[in-house]
Amino acid sequence: MSEVRVNNIVKTYKTARALDDVTLTFPDGGFFGLLGPSGSGKTTLLRTIAGFVEPDTGSVTIGDRPVVNVPVEAREIGMVFQNYALFPNMTVADNVDFGLRVRGVTGNDAKRRVAEALELVQLGPLGKRYPHELSGGQRQRVAMARAIAPRPRVLLLDEPLSALDKSLRVDMQIELKRIQREVGITTIFVTHDQEEALTLSDRIGILKGGRLVREGRPQEVYADPGDTFTARFLGEANVFDGKPEGSLLELLGGARVTRPEKATRIAVRPEHMTVSTVEPEGPNVLRAELRQRIFAGAMGTCVLEWQGQPVKAIARQEEFDGLPEKGAVWLSWSDRHARALTVD
Ligand code: ADP
Ligand code: MG
Repeated sequence: MSEVRVNNIVKTYKTARALDDVTLTFPDGGFFGLLGPSGSGKTTLLRTIAGFVEPDTGSVTIGDRPVVNVPVEAREIGMVFQNYALFPNMTVADNVDFGLRVRGVTGNDAKRRVAEALELVQLGPLGKRYPHELSGGQRQRVAMARAIAPRPRVLLLDEPLSALDKSLRVDMQIELKRIQREVGITTIFVTHDQEEALTLSDRIGILKGGRLVREGRPQEVYADPGDTFTARFLGEANVFDGKPEGSLLELLGGARVTRPEKATRIAVRPEHMTVSTVEPEGPNVLRAELRQRIFAGAMGTCVLEWQGQPVKAIARQEEFDGLPEKGAVWLSWSDRHARALTVD
């Protein structure tokens, strides 16, 4: 059992509160994506779990073992960072072996584990090469092999793919997921790329200014973000504020829309907006101005303006083709696609 738990972690630096009472469980064997803008505390949280950062207060447990006083080397953690430093003067195999030697694994046992780890990242035949003889993606795989070879209980990945270009990165995402499934190790993956987090993770957590604002399954959090920051950070959202009128919300200009959960603010995703030239029946209808249509294959984007506020809609091709270039249109959504947001 290698579930990781952090409880009420606070970490303050001279000028910043990097972590502000973070409590979170990373499930055993799961792939957890930790997301947040730059400076939100992602790296500090990973480093706290690894033991490089000592929290002001709070505790960390790995499996059932509290580790706050356990040194880094004894926490059985594998790490890969953005600037994964391989030793340039060591071969690929020696780089992987290094992690084993510092843990006292030597001889045939070490040899076997190095071969296994290189096999796992599909670099079996390249053990004798030097880092400068590898591509960026291959170097990244060596870093993974080095982290995994000692068979850690937890794998911490801090933006490991951000140095790679887009297409290589997508290949490596698939690769990373395969490796994680194969070894079944509890993995905590830090990224500021929301799409990457949604693709890879079983669960995600969102940090903002050192606070955990939301945690859950990716589908769940995307469908019901709960607060404005999360709604906008994870994809795009059209946000509307209104005045409560019983079960309805009165928006600027007097339009009334369905009000979920007694909210005064709602979000509707662009893919749930319908744009039409004839006034639709039912609630949740706004008169808006189409400013721009952007063709993008099977789907198109409509940039609109409603009461001085920009609104975005994504339309399927048939719907998109039937629209004018610009001008007055109707914008609507169904009740089930309006999500309540807290106002903070
Ligand atoms: P992220 O990884 O999400 O970009 P970090 O965890 O690196 O965020 O940083 C969180 C906050 O803590 C930032 O305001 C950062 O400037 C501050 N911080 C991080 N490490 C240190 C440090 N060693 N000394 C002082 N401030 C730090
Ligand atoms: Mg960071």
